[in-house]
Amino acid sequence: MKVLIALFSLSIMANAFATKAAARRLNVLEKAYYNKEFSEKLADLHARGGSGDIVGNGGGLVEQNFQYAYDKAADLIDHCLVYKNCDIDAEDLSTLEEIKLTIISNWGNKERLKFIPAQFEDFFNDEGDYETRIAKTGFDPSFPILINLNLAYRNESFTYDFGAMIAIVIHEVGHQIGIIDHGYLDFLGQALRRETIAQQDNFGIKIVNGKFNIAVLNSGANKLSKPGLYVSFNNKSIPLLNKVTEEIHCPINSELLGFNVENGHFSKPNIILHRVLLQFQSWLTFFCENKETKTVRFFQRDMNMEFYLYRSESDDDFVLNDMIRVKIY
Ligand SMILES: [Zn+2]
Repeated sequence: MKVLIALFSLSIMANAFATKAAARRLNVLEKAYYNKEFSEKLADLHARGGSGDIVGNGGGLVEQNFQYAYDKAADLIDHCLVYKNCDIDAEDLSTLEEIKLTIISNWGNKERLKFIPAQFEDFFNDEGDYETRIAKTGFDPSFPILINLNLAYRNESFTYDFGAMIAIVIHEVGHQIGIIDHGYLDFLGQALRRETIAQQDNFGIKIVNGKFNIAVLNSGANKLSKPGLYVSFNNKSIPLLNKVTEEIHCPINSELLGFNVENGHFSKPNIILHRVLLQFQSWLTFFCENKETKTVRFFQRDMNMEFYLYRSESDDDFVLNDMIRVKIY
């Protein structure tokens, strides 16, 4: 251990002049040391779970939105790279580029995020650290990012805070590429969080027994990608992306690249006894590419979405119905 500390401080000195100290990467020896320690903690956590899985079913809102945030983070980093408007310098941008490549390499990997239930929350306490962390990972992209579900669900507004989730993903992936400094990774995460907030809209109304919310996370400058789009009422959430995509029709011989949803607002709710009809109008801009000429055209339309809340017979509360109508005109 003493040898390691000596190595550690030597390499800090060596690196301080070449690059920002905070962005310093662990060397191979240091990584091996910390990863061994982290692997042991992970094994211990699994052992405590016994034959049952330590990981929850991943079906809750926070879990779904974290998965989305993970994929979306690459888009938002791209936006910073292209427009250089995220208030960070060239070195930070190149670190972000590396984080982006790591994120992309983990697209489709089901092990990349693991959601840890409340009974194992002590896993997120660090020695010499008073606060419980919201997430943890090792110093290699092959480790999962473990998310502390108890903290994630403590604050209702976190559920749709894609900016906060993206900042957490950036921070943790930053550790995976070998950066140890939490403060520096928070700084990078906050830059992306500001960028996300600029692209995100939440449209919410309080109605009957709860809060009805539509969350939209557009892709900004990236015309090739589709927005995050969810409706939720109390504890039920339904993704809307596929429903909208199905209704968008590009001209013959061309295919849909991406779209944005803007300027949303609700019409006055229509409440009749056991049923509430909610209508949400917005502008829709979509991009179609001609398969032969590869030219891209954009189209602007109005969109109307209809949602229903029904009073359930069992507990007298209103619940969001799965039947949703999307009309583009
Ligand atoms: Zn950290």
